Formats: sequence, structure tokens, C-alpha cells
Amino acid sequence: TMNVSDSFKDPELCKKLLEQLHEELDSPLRFMEVCGTHTVAIFQSGLRPLLPKEIVHLSGPGCPVCVTHESEVAAFLDLAGKDNVILATFGDLMRVPGPKGRNLKLAKAEGARIEIVYSPLDALKLAQENPNDTVVFLGVGFETTAPTIAASIQMAKQQNLTNFKVLSFHKLVPPALKVLLEDPDCAVDAFLLPGHVSTILGMEPYHFVAERYNTPGVITGFDPVDILESLLIMVEQRKNGKASIVNQYKRAVSDSGNAKAREIMFSVFNIAEAQWRGVGTIPESGLVIKDEYEEFDALKALDITLTDVPQTPGCKCGEVLKGKMQPSDCPLFAKGCTPAKPVGPCMVSTEGSCAAYFKYQVTA
Ligand code: SF4
Repeated sequence: TMNVSDSFKDPELCKKLLEQLHEELDSPLRFMEVCGTHTVAIFQSGLRPLLPKEIVHLSGPGCPVCVTHESEVAAFLDLAGKDNVILATFGDLMRVPGPKGRNLKLAKAEGARIEIVYSPLDALKLAQENPNDTVVFLGVGFETTAPTIAASIQMAKQQNLTNFKVLSFHKLVPPALKVLLEDPDCAVDAFLLPGHVSTILGMEPYHFVAERYNTPGVITGFDPVDILESLLIMVEQRKNGKASIVNQYKRAVSDSGNAKAREIMFSVFNIAEAQWRGVGTIPESGLVIKDEYEEFDALKALDITLTDVPQTPGCKCGEVLKGKMQPSDCPLFAKGCTPAKPVGPCMVSTEGSCAAYFKYQVTA
């Protein structure tokens, strides 16, 4: 078992904050962390069992692999079957199940040319090294990764590297929060807002959460002290009855975000609708490549269309991502679905809630 006190960055301060939290809490609080890194941080720190039991921890939609729709995986597999195409992808997409449970790992075993890369620059290099092939980078991720991918498209244009393409299935976080909040059965009382995505966005895109839905949101770091401080802010806001967006993570996130990164992102991408696993189509929640850069758009260059792919049978990832179900309540959890044999993407990614529950053996 984990030694809880060892994993605290400042055990004394954590203890104080926890006591304060127990004292201040006067009604149940269901908080959702939007980002998978927080899910893991909360488990890893050992914080979860120490929280007052009236504080319910929900996992949110913020694991990029988890929200990759079945039809998007179908498009990856479609591309993997084409001649003279090399796919370049981050490793965590390899095992994400698509139609009939097929994934990129299987396609690779069957002979598809798929390279795992650590940055889009590696994919650019692949394109340079393979001038007779088309290298397609699978663009999956949120506002955190999209600016880097945009920069790689700009570089490809400068270098006239036209055998480099990007399949952009990037997604934007704030529109997903809006969908959760619009749901009449919304289960979320407050949001722990993502640290990394917010370094790009700053506070502005979240204000509607507090203003329109009277729901607190705190941009939070990844240490236990960060999380406890943020929970206290939420509890205080609820007591005062006045919700606002707070930046608790000022040491890493500027209130105004990173304007330069946003500028690069929006010089290459337009905002468009996108499909989210288990949630469906969300307007203005995705990024498509602008006409100006269309020669680098895999959708256009390789004639890829998204087809209707039914939801993976039995998988409750959508309910989990919306905070309506705990992973352990999914009938397949730890039975038909394990990290070794994942049925849904939430069990694949290390940032996925189902994988975190499995690893930390949360059964109820
Ligand atoms: Fe989907 Fe598996 Fe999670 Fe169930 S346990 S929601 S099948 S990923």
C-alpha cells in the first residue's frame, strides 16, 4: 500500500488544508476534474480517500484519447490501409478501440506503416526522409497540443514539404464544459480546471461557467496542496453563493494565457464541430485546417470522410466522461474490460478514468 504522507509535497500544509476543508464543508460537493492528469494526480497522491466523504470526485472529459470518437478511429484505420501512406502518431492512440474493437496496433501487426512519434517535428522529419510516401500525423489533443501541430504545418509550408499531412481531430475544452452544464441532470457542482490547457487559454474562456451557470471553476496545479486549496475555494464560493473563475495555479498559468500560441493555432485552424466519444457532436468544439493550408489537410488530400460508427457496445465511457457514472459502476469494469484488454478508450490511456480506477483498485 502507498505511504500517503510520503507522497505529499508538504504534509503539514496538506494536513491543515484537509482539516480546514472538513470544517468548512457544510453540504455535499461534487467536483469534476476536467483533465486526465488531475485524475491521476488525485489518485497518485493518496488524497482521494482522505477527502471528506461528502466530497464526490468525478472524472471529466479531459483525456484526449478518451474522447476520440469511434468514427475518428475508423478514419485512422482507413488511412492505415492506404498505399504509400505512413501514419505518425503519439503512442497512446495505438490501442484505442475503433469499430469492432480494431485498433492501430492490430493494423501495424498486419503490415500497416505506423510510426510512434513524440512530437509533430518527428513526423516532419519522417516526411523529409520518405519523399515518395505521404506521412500523416494523427492530430489528437486539446488546446495544449494544437499550437505545436499548427507550427509544424507552418514549417511544412515554409519547406514546401507537401508529403506531410495532418489529420486534425483536435478538440477544444470549454465547449465540452458547456455541454455538461447544459444537461438538465448535470452532476457537477464545481470544476477543477485543467493546468496545461489553461497555460494556453488563460481564464477568459471559462468565465461563462461561473457567469451563466453559477458554477465555480478553479485552474489548478497538480500537487496535493494545489488540489486542496482549490477544493477550499470551491467550498467558500458555494457558501457565499457567488461563483467565479479563480487561477490557483499562477506559478504556471498566466491569467491571460499564451497569446502567441493561440495566434499560431488560429492562423492554421478554424473552429468547427467535432465528434466526442460517448457524447456525440459538439458545435464549435474542434479544429479544422484552414483553406490556406489545405494541401496539408489529410481529410482533403486523402479523401477521408467520417462515417457513422455505432458506439462501442457495452462501453460506458460517455457516461464516465460526463460524470454520470463511476468507472467501477460499468458492468464491464475489471471484467470484460481491463488495461490489458480495453473495451473503451477510458481504459487505454494512463490518463483515462477507468485505467486510473483499475490501477488504484477503486471498486466502489
Ligand atoms: Fe468503457 Fe471499459 Fe470504462 Fe466500461 S470500464 S466505461 S467498457 S473503458
